Amino acid sequence: MLPARHRSMVLMKKITRGTHRKVNYVSKLFQPQNVVPKDNKVKNEDCLSKSQKLMLDLGVIRQASAGAFHMLPLSERSLQKLISIVDDEMSKIDAQKLMLPLLTPGELWKTTGRWEDVGEELFTLKDRHDKEFVLSPTHEEAVTDLIASVPQLSYRQFPLRLYQVSNKFRDEMRPRFGLLRGKEFIMKDLYTFDVSQEAASETYKAVSEAYENIFRRIGIRYLRVSAAAGIMGGSISHEYHFLATTGETQLLTCESCGYGTSAENSVTHDCPACGHSFLQCRPGIEVGHTFLLGTKYSLPLKAKFTTATGKSDFLQMGSYGLGMTRILAASVEVLSLPDQIRWPIALAPYTVCIIPPKEGSKESAVAHLAEELYHKLNSVDCFRDDLIIDNRCNMTIGKRLFEAQKVGYPLIVVIGRKALQPTPELEVYHTLMDKETSINKTDMIPYL
Ligand code: ATP
Ligand code: MG
Ligand code: MG
Ligand code: MG
Repeated sequence: MLPARHRSMVLMKKITRGTHRKVNYVSKLFQPQNVVPKDNKVKNEDCLSKSQKLMLDLGVIRQASAGAFHMLPLSERSLQKLISIVDDEMSKIDAQKLMLPLLTPGELWKTTGRWEDVGEELFTLKDRHDKEFVLSPTHEEAVTDLIASVPQLSYRQFPLRLYQVSNKFRDEMRPRFGLLRGKEFIMKDLYTFDVSQEAASETYKAVSEAYENIFRRIGIRYLRVSAAAGIMGGSISHEYHFLATTGETQLLTCESCGYGTSAENSVTHDCPACGHSFLQCRPGIEVGHTFLLGTKYSLPLKAKFTTATGKSDFLQMGSYGLGMTRILAASVEVLSLPDQIRWPIALAPYTVCIIPPKEGSKESAVAHLAEELYHKLNSVDCFRDDLIIDNRCNMTIGKRLFEAQKVGYPLIVVIGRKALQPTPELEVYHTLMDKETSINKTDMIPYL
C-alpha cells in the first residue's frame, strides 16, 4: 500500500495527464478562408499588402471595418506567443504589468497640450454628462496621472517600470495594409519613472537591451535607428524597423559603420557617426519606438517624489512602445512567399501540423499513429499545445499538405503507409522522445 500522500500525488498526475489529452484538430478550427466580407471596402486587390492578402485569404484575420480587424484563432495564438516573449523580457527588467482604462479624461490631454497637437488623429467622445474623453492612442497622460495620484512617493520606490498590452485607437488618415496600419491595434506600452536623468538613462539602456532580446527571439532582422521625438516629446528617441518594400518610413543607413536614422530626423547626408559621405535610403516598417521623455508629462501633470533630503521633485520618464499586431503582420510581410505564409518559428500559430492518411486507405493503425505522435510530442515542453492534426481525412494528403504549407506551419509531419515499419529514423525519434526533457525544437527538425 502506498502512503496516502504519495497515492494522492499519483492520482493528481493521472488527472493532470488526462487534461493534456485534448487534441487540436483543423476540422474544428474557425478559419473562414477566401471569403471577402460583404462590407470589405478594398476594391482593388493590388492595393493590398502581401501580409494583408495572405492573412485575409487564409482565415488568419478578418476585416470588421476599414482599419479594424477580428483576430481569428490563428492570429490570436501568434499574438499570445508574442505576448509571452514580451512578458518574459519585461519581467527580466522588473517591469510590472497592469491595465489602464482605454478611456482617458480629455482634460488630461488638454493639460499636456496634446488634445490640440494630435489633432484629427485623436478619437474623442463625450459621455451623457458632456464630459470629454479620449479613446487612447497611447497612455502617457493616463499613467502619469496615476502616479501623480499616489501621495508621498519616496525616492526608494524607484525605478518604477509599468507596462500593459492593450488596444490603442488612432483615426489614421489612411488605414491600410491590414494589421500594419489600423485604426484600432494592439500595442505593448511601457512607462518608466526615475529620480534623476542618469537613472532614467540607465533605464533607457536596460529597456533597449530588452528590446534587442525580444527582436532576437522573434528572429527577424531589424534595424534600430535614431528618430525624431515628434509630438511625444523628450530628448532621445529610437525606432525599430523591419526592412520591407511596403515600409512607410524612409531610413538612411551607413554601410560603413552601421549607423541608421529615420529620414525625417536627418539634416545631412553625411553619416554623423563616422563621416562617411553616403547614406543608403531604404523603406522600413516601424515596429517599435522608445523615448526618453524627461519631465514633459510629469511637470504639467505633477508627478513627483520625495527626495532623500525630504524635498519634492518631478519624476524623469520614459515611454517605450511595441506595435504587437504590426509585428505579427510585418513578420509575415518580410518572410512570406506571395502565396504562402511564413511565420517566424517563435510566432507560428502551431509549430507542428500532423497529416494522417486519407480515409478509406486500410491504414487505421497509421491513423492511430498520428494521435500517438501528437500525444508524445505534446508531452515535450516546447511542443505542448503547439500541435494540430489535419484530420480532414476525406481530403487527399496532397491537398492538406498544400494547405498546411500555405498557412505556414513550420513543421509538417505526413504519416504515410510505411510509418509502421521500423526505420533507423523512427528509432532515433523514439529515443529522443524518451529523453524528452532535453529536447528543443531545433533538435527535432532533422528527425521530423
Ligand atoms: P507610424 O509612424 O507608423 O504612424 P507612430 O510613430 O505614429 O507609427 P508610435 O506613436 O511610435 O507610432 O507608436 C508605437 C508603435 O505602435 C509604433 O512603433 C508601431 O509599431 C505601432 N503603431 C503605431 N500606429 C499604428 C497603427 N495605426 N496600426 C498598427 N500599429 C501601429
Ligand atoms: Mg502614426
Ligand atoms: Mg513613426
Ligand atoms: Mg513612432
